[in-house]
Amino acid sequence: LELALAGVQQLVPYVPGKPVEELQRELGLSEVIKLASNENPLGTGTKVAAAIQATLPELTRYPDGSGFALKTALSDKLAVLPEQITLGNGSSEILELVMRTFVTPEHEIVFSQHAFALYPILTQAVGATARVVPAKDFGHDLTAMLAAVTDKTRVVFIANPNNPTGTLLAADALEQFVSALPSRVLCVLDEAYHEFVAPAVRTESLHWPQRYPNLIVTRTFSKAYGLAGLRIGYGVSSLEVADLLNRVRQPFNSNMLALAAAEAALGDTEYLAETLAANNAGMAQLTAAFKILDLPWIPSSGNFVSVDMKQAAMPLYQALLQKGVIVRPVANYEMPNHLRVSIGTERENRIFIDALTQVLQGV
Ligand code: PMP
Repeated sequence: LELALAGVQQLVPYVPGKPVEELQRELGLSEVIKLASNENPLGTGTKVAAAIQATLPELTRYPDGSGFALKTALSDKLAVLPEQITLGNGSSEILELVMRTFVTPEHEIVFSQHAFALYPILTQAVGATARVVPAKDFGHDLTAMLAAVTDKTRVVFIANPNNPTGTLLAADALEQFVSALPSRVLCVLDEAYHEFVAPAVRTESLHWPQRYPNLIVTRTFSKAYGLAGLRIGYGVSSLEVADLLNRVRQPFNSNMLALAAAEAALGDTEYLAETLAANNAGMAQLTAAFKILDLPWIPSSGNFVSVDMKQAAMPLYQALLQKGVIVRPVANYEMPNHLRVSIGTERENRIFIDALTQVLQGV
């Protein structure tokens, strides 16, 4: 189509995890389990459900476009100013807003090999040039990433923990990196999986934007808070960056149910604690099985783990689908022998392990 922009012509769309209903229909299976999108396996929390119920009569109104109540709650909890917070339709929207606000086709965008699949898509969609830096031990090579910054660089994306590798950067190395960046380069520190990181090694990054005005930290309610279906996330930045993003964003970009649910989720410390405990137990359950199966895995700080099948992973992914188990092939992340599996409930993990064991035995 002549209309399409050059970057868009060549764009390969983001492929989400296969939907459960689709596979159920294809195979006529009574049960399908999905461990493919790093979702929270615990289901909707009672406080969130009550908040949504209470909001239902209001749906004829527009949501509060300023997100006052949620920003106030976040500000109290995170000890940042409400004006530093930008709310979005998932943290994906914050990433996109950054690109629309700051990036033109003349710019270069730096990110790591094996980093989140949305970074190359967003880069290409605005016609900018991606500078993909080779990974080190599957994680970000910060020295090489800094060396990749040129006069044309406008944004650097860093996911910590990274998806799909689960690798974690040390806080001091990360801060050194941010402090060494030229002030005309915006660093996007994508912390979608922050809450899953063990407290002893967690990066307390939210005060950094006061020191480094060219930094935005993004987080989400999709993962540990269990609200992936509602689409709500946020960025914490300097006041200057937040002001610019606020000018570009759609006036009602966060919907009413999501705003109410996120505020309730933030107050539900029990649900979060249960989530983290289940994740730790599930991670131990899966990695113990990988050990028995003699499959190396990349130690992960997230709610998923990428495991090395020691052979092309795509046929194994297909064979698992036939058994009603959906995981995530990561060949498009240049990891053709790995499968990424999200941590499920104890039962889901067990079904996956049994299916994987059978598939490896050719059963
Ligand atoms: N960043 C990373 C690293 C992710 O893995 C994801 C979700 N897959 C996101 C951002 C976006 O999540 P959401 O838009 O649901 O907040």
